[in-house]
Amino acid sequence: MDHSLYIHIPFCRHRCHYCDFNTSTGQSGLIPAYIEALIKELRIVSLAKPNIPIHSIYFGGGTPSLIPASMYEKILNAIKAGFKLSSDCEISLEANPGTLNQEYLTGLYGLGFNRISIGVQSLDPFDLVRLDRIHSIWDVLESVRYARFAGFDNINLDLIFGLPWQDLETWRKTLLRAIDLSPEHFSIYSLIIEPGTPLFNWYQKGLIKQQDQDLEADMYELTIDTLKGSNYGHYEISNWAKKDQNRDFRCRHNLQYWLGYPYLGIGAGAHGFSNGFRTINTLTIHDYIERMSQENHMPVPFPGTPAQISMDAIDLKTQMSDFMMVGLRLVKEGVSERRFSKLFGRSMTEIFSQEIIRLIDQGLIEWSEGEERKLHLTRRGIFLANRVFMAFV
Ligand code: SF4
Repeated sequence: MDHSLYIHIPFCRHRCHYCDFNTSTGQSGLIPAYIEALIKELRIVSLAKPNIPIHSIYFGGGTPSLIPASMYEKILNAIKAGFKLSSDCEISLEANPGTLNQEYLTGLYGLGFNRISIGVQSLDPFDLVRLDRIHSIWDVLESVRYARFAGFDNINLDLIFGLPWQDLETWRKTLLRAIDLSPEHFSIYSLIIEPGTPLFNWYQKGLIKQQDQDLEADMYELTIDTLKGSNYGHYEISNWAKKDQNRDFRCRHNLQYWLGYPYLGIGAGAHGFSNGFRTINTLTIHDYIERMSQENHMPVPFPGTPAQISMDAIDLKTQMSDFMMVGLRLVKEGVSERRFSKLFGRSMTEIFSQEIIRLIDQGLIEWSEGEERKLHLTRRGIFLANRVFMAFV
């Protein structure tokens, strides 16, 4: 079965005010050793099972665009040596405006990267300052221009709404400005104020409030309707792809997660799911490098590597619940009754009969019409998706 590869790059120049991701600042001196460790982990996993077919590679962070193109060349060579890449393999890089230039993006494109995901977050100068992003609106425009000139014809823009100080009009302006840039894809999430971040401190001191839930729902609705009117298909709760008869711009890598297909997680803090095992790598850069630099380590079965702090076999019930929770995120496609039976040898309506009946009665999910029976969220269900997912825990 085709796998996807997720490779984590946990380096940033500076920590944004809302960020609780697994990333570090002031550690750029460790980048060369970290890249060597990544290459070693890739080798170990590919030696355990040679020539795994790979149809997407995603470098996420952190700020992957801080890594020189020459280092990506080494990583990609290691992947090509140990895995079997499909001819149309999607190779994505998360990039932050303010870290990009023409030469860099042209170099990446030449190496085979074919998708860039740009962390825009907002196109309002006031938002960018309060979020403590390193970039300006100008940097965003330049980044998109560089990417296009380099040859990228598949660009994602990440945006955040529901900022505590944001009103509907400010969000509309950001959204419309972003649409003007004509990306092929949008990932748009509402802000969560995470403990341990400066935003959380401001919240605790009463300097900012949580965004009003009704206003946040209005912002989400505005997003859905505006993007629909601009020819973007809403295919996942937080993701939209430009409609194109000749090409599918949905993110292949993320579809792998949502459809319950296997992926390998490489790098500090990366998660994987393959061969019925869920894997979690050690979080810190130092420990990751240390583990991967050991000459001798206990042999572990695929997909094990010395970087992992856990490798758990996932029982059938959990796999079925995950399949429902993650699959229902696909707002149009939903979960297929046929695929469920094929994967688990049981009927979805038998295992989750009560949950399905209750959620249909509440108007949150429905069966799709058409040849293949699929269960998907209703419009009301999209707004109350967490309630739906919790039903399958
Ligand atoms: S660029 Fe992204 S990963 Fe880095 S600190 Fe900001 S939000 Fe976190």
